[in-house]
Amino acid sequence: MRVLVCGGAGYIGSNMTAMLAREGHQPVVFDNLSKGHREAVPNVQFVLGDFGDFNFTLEVLQKYSIEAVMHFAAFIEVGESVQEPLRYYENNVSKTRTLLAAMEKAGVSKFVFSSTAAVYGMPDTIPITEDVVKVPINPYGETKWVVERMCHFLCQTGRMRYAALRYFNACGACGNGTIGEDHHPESHLIPLIIQAAMGRRENIKIFGTDYPTDDGTCVRDYIHIEDLCKAHLLALKKLDNNTELVYNLGNGTGYSVRQVIDTICKVSGKDFEVVETDRRPGDPPVLTADASKARAELGWTTDYPELQTIIESAWKFHNDHPNGYED
Ligand code: UDP
Repeated sequence: MRVLVCGGAGYIGSNMTAMLAREGHQPVVFDNLSKGHREAVPNVQFVLGDFGDFNFTLEVLQKYSIEAVMHFAAFIEVGESVQEPLRYYENNVSKTRTLLAAMEKAGVSKFVFSSTAAVYGMPDTIPITEDVVKVPINPYGETKWVVERMCHFLCQTGRMRYAALRYFNACGACGNGTIGEDHHPESHLIPLIIQAAMGRRENIKIFGTDYPTDDGTCVRDYIHIEDLCKAHLLALKKLDNNTELVYNLGNGTGYSVRQVIDTICKVSGKDFEVVETDRRPGDPPVLTADASKARAELGWTTDYPELQTIIESAWKFHNDHPNGYED
């Protein structure tokens, strides 16, 4: 299938592009390189441009006879979204609306959307099922939820079919650790700890040690990027016979911040300074997925559920790219 990968030079998009190509699809990467890395894109068609540009996006959809769109081009920093909500609404909502309008005009109906567990806010029940009430507590989660609703209503017209995939904590690097996480600035736990272990960061700060969890630190559901991408392929296929799909993607197992630190110490064999600091605003104590719907309906299985395996792949990527892709 000819698939336009919006944000295909970013962390998840580039891993997805590699998998699509490997599985015999024809991905076309569409990225403005504002955050992504040209070096992360495998040897496939690359188009430099912005999905917020209606005319250009329409041209790209038509020129490459695109049959489906996977959309990863979003701003993803919770803290930044609180500081700059309008930037998030502009990039994550307005521009996605333009993309959908161009798809509608081009007659491209299949859309796989990168959503997030942040749509749930602070859920009362853990693990989280898809039907839990959605009360996002920051602009990032809200913008993703708005797009899901936009897709839902567009789907009702019969002019689009979509899959919204709600990621828990995506991490790790694909296959042999060649395509990994390189954000500027970095804000995600695993790459930050790895940087500390590599001596590239003075210390790692734990944001809050007084949560109602076993060791007082936040618990998250870490899902290997390769397993995450695999679910996209299954969802894309399922869109042949379905119009609206929504799935949580996580392992269902939670690890605390301290457990992640300990695992990185073990994998790296390095010691580094750990500093306990205040809570980060907007962090729920525990977020783990009930992904039984994806397993039952998509036949999705995870190959790398162990935190240690995930971290080993990330560790390899960071050691091979100590300055990220810019080396
Ligand atoms: N975290 C931390 N120190 C850091 C970065 C993150 O203690 O330097 C914690 C954060 O508060 C959260 C967990 O690690 O509980 C995962 O954070 P991350 O930003 O990686 O992902 P999120 O769960 O926010 O999507």
